[in-house]
Amino acid sequence: MAKIAVLDDNMINMIAAGEVIERPASVVKELLENSIDAGATKIVLRVEDGGRKLISVTDNGCGISEDDLPVAFLPHATSKVRTSDDLDGIVTMGFRGEALASIASVSQISIVSRTEDSIQANRLGIDCGDRDEIVPCSGDIGTTVEVRNLFYKLPARRKFLRTANTEMGHINEFFTRIALANKELDMMLIHNGRELQRLSPSQTIAQRVGQLFGPEICDGLIEAKSDEKSMRIFALIGKPAKARGNNKYQYIFLNNRYIRDRFISHAMKEAYRGLMEPNKYPVVFLFIEMDPSDMDVNVHPTKIEVRFHNSNMVHSQVLGVLREKLLSINLDVEIRLPGAVNLNDDPALSSEEETRRKRISDAMENFFKDHKPAGQSQQSFGFSGSHRPGSGQSFGVGKAASGSTSHYPTPPAQTQHYSEPENEQAPPAAGCRFLQVHNSYILAQTDEGFVIIDQHALHERIIYEKLCRNVREGKLESQRLLIPETLAVSDNEAEAIQENSDFIAKLGIELEPFGPDTMAIQSFPTMLAKANPVEFVREMVDKLSDKSPGIDAERLLHEVLDMAACKAAIKAGQPLSEGEMSQLFADKDAVVRASRCPHGRPTTIKFTLDELEKQFKRTGF
Ligand code: ADP
Ligand code: MG
Repeated sequence: MAKIAVLDDNMINMIAAGEVIERPASVVKELLENSIDAGATKIVLRVEDGGRKLISVTDNGCGISEDDLPVAFLPHATSKVRTSDDLDGIVTMGFRGEALASIASVSQISIVSRTEDSIQANRLGIDCGDRDEIVPCSGDIGTTVEVRNLFYKLPARRKFLRTANTEMGHINEFFTRIALANKELDMMLIHNGRELQRLSPSQTIAQRVGQLFGPEICDGLIEAKSDEKSMRIFALIGKPAKARGNNKYQYIFLNNRYIRDRFISHAMKEAYRGLMEPNKYPVVFLFIEMDPSDMDVNVHPTKIEVRFHNSNMVHSQVLGVLREKLLSINLDVEIRLPGAVNLNDDPALSSEEETRRKRISDAMENFFKDHKPAGQSQQSFGFSGSHRPGSGQSFGVGKAASGSTSHYPTPPAQTQHYSEPENEQAPPAAGCRFLQVHNSYILAQTDEGFVIIDQHALHERIIYEKLCRNVREGKLESQRLLIPETLAVSDNEAEAIQENSDFIAKLGIELEPFGPDTMAIQSFPTMLAKANPVEFVREMVDKLSDKSPGIDAERLLHEVLDMAACKAAIKAGQPLSEGEMSQLFADKDAVVRASRCPHGRPTTIKFTLDELEKQFKRTGF
């Protein structure tokens, strides 16, 4: 007996449904995309019980004619492509013609549709592949698709569905993607009779971001654009300080279709390198427009991935436009006292950062305590070097800090609200003086108020930039060691040294074999004079011999330069002279990206006079 049989149509559709329809949110995606392809300007999505009971989409698009209605549900039935040439220039969301057929094979679906030239609507119902007769009915121009009891004949798949809340989370996510990609659409989302989203047509993408995510995400977004190499990019990007712990607020759209792309995500992260902590995810809404013939969108059943013909070009364009924008703005952190936002609520804040901020506010507290304004309080900002509170204490949080706060209002750490001004910061005012606090932070008066810098972080950034520049332009200046220092190396490490000999030479380090398993350091860069050569080379070799995936040459270079900068920089707790402090400020202005240390922590915090005045008035001071 023959064992091979051709599957019937409904089986074929059910199998296709397994690929396309994973959960209620997939139905939502397909139906919303169909409405958009139909030219709808208004879409209402109704859901009941997380989509188990009902998913209904009503649009005011072109509708489906009576003759086309049954055809729409046939597998591979589409009005969007005709010939293989069309596949090269797809501009519609759908084109595979499998969504309606798949959904109809695993649920009870009904579709009511009316075209412009028809005086009535028509209804067609299908129950897991069993089709009713088409019946005329009343209805507006456009289409309503209702999908009930998804997977009800497939208990194994139905069991797989999560709670209504979880499924609703997925549905909301798909709704959000469509809403971002189509800002001019009037859209509504209703769950169990409750309105979850009501989006009126937006003029700008920023407006739509605001409608969807509120001011916390929307405020302070920066626009970046480019139009080069047949690629148009528009991005709304968050400042580094607003980066998050996950990639929930990263959206990539290609020709108005939401996509995921490893290369592009990498480029986004690269753009923020050194401006934020490496384990963070910046807020990025990225919109790319390209000729459809420069990519293949037919590589994934749900089309969430595409294949670019030139992915390197896409990577470098995205990286370029974001990076350039980020470097052109001032990222100094501005402090506002007191803000309405509770800092501790910000999940993006690492505990390290919180400790840091606490330290600064404690240092401020000590400072105000030691500098009680005497009469003409103006004077209290003209510091003289002899008034150094708590000298000798490195990173001194100061035990007294928790004490008397009643007379001298201080920034309450838990209500500070940080934001970053985009405008250029004025240079320190003429005759500006410096005050070193706890031998770690420096206060300086500026035209707008005053700034506090973290001496180590800022110096680290300055050295890092210098190192990058010098390495790019040639080789670091080096000095021969009077007595060569030696270190033991394994075979692997010796190999890594060999492989990276150009890079090591560029750093100004000269290594020579010195007996078995030993290398001698003959020369060492002058800029790193403060660092211990053996320690430095040891760490560098560790990095160079790290064969973990994802560590490319570029990344390695930056890691080594980071390390070098950290070792060569002024330390926290190190007393500085007036001259040294003034040099640090002068260097700051000469360096791009001075607002962040190479690890992405801020180097500078601004206090504006406005905020100070508000603070003092508020407390009746
Ligand atoms: P595809 O979108 O890939 O063409 P679908 O199975 O999703 O395949 O839809 C089949 C066809 O049904 C579409 O090509 C379109 O002509 C028609 N159609 C589906 N939904 C709508 C709608 N909301 N309004 C108008 N036409 C629709
Ligand atoms: Mg479709």
